[in-house]
Amino acid sequence: MITFLSGGTGTPKLIRGMRQVLDDDQISVVVNTGEDIWVSGNHISPDLDTVMYLFSGVLDTDTWWGLRGDTFTTHEMLKDLSPEEFIAIGDRDRAVHIARADLLRRGCSLTEATVRLCRLFGVRASVLPMTDARVTTRVKTSAGSIHFQEFWVKNRGAGEVMGVEWYPQDPPPASREVLDAIRECEAVVIGPSNPITSILPILRCRGVREALSEQYVVGISPFIGDAPVSGPAGALMTAEGYPPNSIGTAGVYSDLLDLFIQDVRDTVNLPGTVRLDTLMVDEQKSRALAAAVLRLIRKRGGKNEGGI
Ligand code: GDP
Repeated sequence: MITFLSGGTGTPKLIRGMRQVLDDDQISVVVNTGEDIWVSGNHISPDLDTVMYLFSGVLDTDTWWGLRGDTFTTHEMLKDLSPEEFIAIGDRDRAVHIARADLLRRGCSLTEATVRLCRLFGVRASVLPMTDARVTTRVKTSAGSIHFQEFWVKNRGAGEVMGVEWYPQDPPPASREVLDAIRECEAVVIGPSNPITSILPILRCRGVREALSEQYVVGISPFIGDAPVSGPAGALMTAEGYPPNSIGTAGVYSDLLDLFIQDVRDTVNLPGTVRLDTLMVDEQKSRALAAAVLRLIRKRGGKNEGGI
């Protein structure tokens, strides 16, 4: 069993490859829910949706969100009616959000709702929201503190980023299922996701760091040189006081890593890391990286051996 910590783009690309070398029922994914948002009465969990759609084979892997071939009729109508509709949500995607919102309103936890939706989608992997508590990642900008989705989707990342904060401030408890998945696996893989807005929210959940400190943890950098492969990770890292590169990424994960993987092209030199081609431009590249990560896990020494 391999357990991933995941956001909604970089790590799902790696999971796509891992599915070709491991059976789905050997994979658990602890998913960031800090970017969740209620829109027009429905519950969007962008990273959970991406991971669930990936395992069910319906994900649009051009954009890494939404269902392949979805239509946008409802969004086209709603976007002029509601200021909340700044996210283009497909019709079938919205059906999932409606169903999830209904389950939550009827008292299901997010973990239970995810189990039900995954069953419906024929997902055999274990897809786990990091917490059942409601927690929101907000970006502090010169214009005030805004929801991550507003920052990234509505404002397209524009404006000066001054930091990140979570609402509520107190770290939420990780679910029991999440802690079990971390404790009871062969190794945990922190995929190449945004360290600040995808991985840190998971690491903040109560119990996660302690569980990880007992596990063999492999991290993969989402940076090549001084830029992330995609997305706003650079500005967010800088605002939070980390260099926007692999050194900063290792800094966010601090003493949790047993093995850290940097891209072969990365000009940032971090002693003790393993160099691999991490640029997953297609399914074959994802598979090659996943197979290499699995080989490293299986030939590892003890905790901290070969770590950084
Ligand atoms: P989000 O939820 O959409 O922000 O997605 P993630 O946090 O899971 O992934 C975003 C991060 O993935 C960015 O920081 C990218 O640099 C990184 N990323 C995307 N594709 C790749 C890739 O092929 N290789 C590597 N190393 N990183 C990638």
